[in-house]
Amino acid sequence: MTSNNKQESGDKRDYNEDISDTSLSIEDISNLKKLTDQKFIEMASGDIEEHIQSDEHLLETIGKKPGTYYRDLIFAIIQIRLPEEEARRDWKEILKHKYTMSEKLNRNVGIHVATLDYFTNIKKKLVNPKIVNVNEYVDTASRALTDELTKAYNRHFFEYEFRKLFTMARSTGRVFSLVMLDLDHFKMFNDLNGHIQGDIALIETVRILHAVCSQGDTVSRYGGEEFAILLPTQPLNLAVRTAENIRQAIYDYRFVNEQTLPSGRLSASLGVTCYRDDVSSFQDMIKEADTALYKAKDSGRNRVKAFLSDQAA
Ligand code: GH3
Ligand code: MG
Ligand code: MG
Repeated sequence: MTSNNKQESGDKRDYNEDISDTSLSIEDISNLKKLTDQKFIEMASGDIEEHIQSDEHLLETIGKKPGTYYRDLIFAIIQIRLPEEEARRDWKEILKHKYTMSEKLNRNVGIHVATLDYFTNIKKKLVNPKIVNVNEYVDTASRALTDELTKAYNRHFFEYEFRKLFTMARSTGRVFSLVMLDLDHFKMFNDLNGHIQGDIALIETVRILHAVCSQGDTVSRYGGEEFAILLPTQPLNLAVRTAENIRQAIYDYRFVNEQTLPSGRLSASLGVTCYRDDVSSFQDMIKEADTALYKAKDSGRNRVKAFLSDQAA
């Protein structure tokens, strides 16, 4: 839902300056996706009560980022940015309002209707609200984060996730890994088979990556025929195994016309590195994974190498 906001002079100071800014940051989109995919808003508001018991753990974790929990909930429903404390008060009032409306109408009034009515008619914070389908809204917003051809995440989102993981690892010591992948002799594949077949091979490569990787991993197109994969829960030995599974899956996949290549197969080379306390920045980790990738290329392609020689795959 989007809206025009009415600024009332009396409570102006209560609002962030960006209250009417409906443009979405990567973090907003990420939160929106999480909150809408998991039907968390409906659960948290009691719209779907039967889930509350069984999904207690989910309720404890999803969206409960320190300091922005209520702000995220309200932003996901109605795209108004509020300071956390105010959002918390409003959320309570909205729930009360939902129960009052439900009693009067003798049916469970959904959280979306209650929120709209609360902000339009009680808090009078909205004029001319416009209703949009949140899934379409999230889809449109998400396009800014994905690569148009392959639908993998783009480099922009990759760097955002990487920064987040790196900062988290710094404070918690939780190890994660990075895999860089580059298709072998892809220029030749294009030259022999044409750009369209090349494009199809890139799309299929991403399908393979998604099939091998887990849901929490970030598969992104780093550029051209190069992909970066973040494995947020895997230390180096597991990441090398995942990279090896990817390499094998690409090698085994029958790409159309791959037999035109001298090796008869389209393959990939992969470089792997993991977070350690002595890595000074996420950019350094990219350099490490790149170094490993070039080692894989140099030693014959269609293989996996880890950055540190004593951890070589
Ligand atoms: P290497 O094994 O050393 O990686 O050799 P390579 O030929 O894969 O590497 P090079 O960097 O020389 O060529 C990369 C090729 O990838 C060049 C370009 O035609 C192709 N490529 C990059 N982006 C796209 C794309 O979006 N679509 C298609 N079809 N080809 C692309
Ligand atoms: Mg290549
Ligand atoms: Mg390349």
